[in-house]
Amino acid sequence: MHLNKAQQKAACHFQGPCMVLAGPGSGKTLTIAARIENLIKRYKVRPEEILVITFTRYASYEMQNRFKSLMGGVCPPVTFGTFHGIYYGILRWAYGFTSANILTGEESSRLLGQILALPELDLKLEVEDEQDFIRDLLTEIGKVKNNGLDIQTYKASVCPGAFADIYQMYEKKRKEMRKIDFDDMLILCHELFKSRPDILEKWQARFRYILVDEFQDVNKIQYEILKMLALPENNLFVVGDDDQSIYQFRGADPSIMLGFSRDYPDAGQILLDVNYRSTAHILNGALRVIGHNEQRFSKEIKPHAGKGECVHVQEVLDVTEEGKYVIEGVKKRMEQGVPAREIAVLFRTNRDARILAEMLAEYQIPFEMKENIQNIYDHFIARNIKSYLKLAAGSRERRYFLDIMNCPKRYLSRECLESSRGDFEEMRKFYCDKGWMQDRIDQFEWDVKMMENKTPYAAIQYIRKKIGYDDYLKEYAKIRRIREEDLFEILYEIQERSKEFQSFEEWFLYIENYGQMLKEKKGRGRKDQTGEQGVSLMTMHGAKGLEFDTVFVIGGNEGVTPYRKAKLDEEIEEERRMFYVAMTRAKRKLVISYVKTKNGKELSPSRFVEELLLKEGESRH
Ligand code: ATP
Ligand code: MG
Repeated sequence: MHLNKAQQKAACHFQGPCMVLAGPGSGKTLTIAARIENLIKRYKVRPEEILVITFTRYASYEMQNRFKSLMGGVCPPVTFGTFHGIYYGILRWAYGFTSANILTGEESSRLLGQILALPELDLKLEVEDEQDFIRDLLTEIGKVKNNGLDIQTYKASVCPGAFADIYQMYEKKRKEMRKIDFDDMLILCHELFKSRPDILEKWQARFRYILVDEFQDVNKIQYEILKMLALPENNLFVVGDDDQSIYQFRGADPSIMLGFSRDYPDAGQILLDVNYRSTAHILNGALRVIGHNEQRFSKEIKPHAGKGECVHVQEVLDVTEEGKYVIEGVKKRMEQGVPAREIAVLFRTNRDARILAEMLAEYQIPFEMKENIQNIYDHFIARNIKSYLKLAAGSRERRYFLDIMNCPKRYLSRECLESSRGDFEEMRKFYCDKGWMQDRIDQFEWDVKMMENKTPYAAIQYIRKKIGYDDYLKEYAKIRRIREEDLFEILYEIQERSKEFQSFEEWFLYIENYGQMLKEKKGRGRKDQTGEQGVSLMTMHGAKGLEFDTVFVIGGNEGVTPYRKAKLDEEIEEERRMFYVAMTRAKRKLVISYVKTKNGKELSPSRFVEELLLKEGESRH
């Protein structure tokens, strides 16, 4: 590949600090790979002295591949890794840490779950989705640790009243377990380097050349360690794009990048201004959107390719229609010869992809997911529905009764259930002296009978309207002070999807297989039976740094992207950067869809879609 002048300048940079600040697709990552090659071949640097830091493990793997192909298939012993991976390696060396000392993300979540239930904290929290809540808490904990903040004065946005208590309990328990979490690794490494100059010196001598990709997402403590490690030679080469900073919620600070030349006044500064990835329509569309951000370092970026196809914006009725639309589009693209691995579907949060993942599986389109997509059938609402349908299908298993006998409230007791073993006649006998309970049991039996010969869809409708499940959910949301809409969205999705099935058995079988399938699909780079990599389903965060021939962005609605929790100007700007990252992943075809209604409610198109359409040039059908 022929590098342009600016890229060459960057790739040939030898010693001292240097920063490449450039827009998407301008070859920043490529330049890193090319520079490693130059360091080795041209400047005769020993590969062992080169450290390449990327943001995710997957990016590290991609970078190694790029480098390997530049080197004609051989891979000299350059160190590639993420911040965490590398700092963990240093701690392992210094303290003999093993993986048993690490509190994995899953363990952290479990620990927090236990803490939330501790009576001494007396939290009395009622949250709809505990996993979601725990994730938010972990993010906040990370923020405090990564920025070295004082927990007493820290204003958390999750559960502000009790956050400090939760945090302290988390730290206490973690220490009792003699474990460190991922953020502690950074803190410990920082402390190690500060207190042990001899150890620091060893690592400084080991890694004399440091290259960092996606530098805009570095946080304060990562940067502090990096600066120490780079001394005394300061052969620190960083590349990034402030417009693609999408981890500020986790403590990333793009002002670090903009302040790099203050920290290193002699640093070389290189701007790359040609985008080699996307066609002009795609690039210009993305630039139009990001142009609405105020907090940014304005930079030039020109398309290298021709105009190409217009960005396609599609309005669809609802998420099911959107799924069908995307699937049609994917199929068509594949017929045109684009391999599945060159196609991606991007979304703001994993929950936006639930229906699509189900539909792709149903239409047998090979796909893979980078992150976990929540299995909707694990939700308590799905469990409730399943229990009703199981009873309607003739099962009298205790667990199904237990699950729904009081949803809605029927005042049936456990004792009654135990003694009747699910027999309605026996239940009536249990309450023989309570006429009003007899009526309730009659009604319960009648309802179960009424569903017997219905389709799953009609049965769910019956549960909602005749049995009163809708009202039950409303009450549930009110008591627990959670958003009614969130619950109904789940219920609505389950019901929508059940349309496809004629019998309960079909539906039961399906939800079982689906759970299994989701587990198998996890992990990017998976291949289907034919050995081909499938269509990528990933969040906008997960797609950073990657590129695809064709990109579908789904859920281009207000409340989805920007996410409904984003309110402040700076939060909206971060959402806009995410949308920008998503758009700029596309090389040749970009399709953005938004729904008109969700869960029976009207939804407006995203302001970002409107910004994109603001000027002429793009087609809209
Ligand atoms: P991002 O900001 O999204 O991470 P980036 O700046 O890191 O993007 P790269 O991924 O390095 O950009 O490059 C984008 C695409 O452009 C790649 O497919 C790369 O091979 C190609 N490319 C980069 N420079 C050139 C060039 N000089 N000639 C041809 N293709 C190039
Ligand atoms: Mg890159």
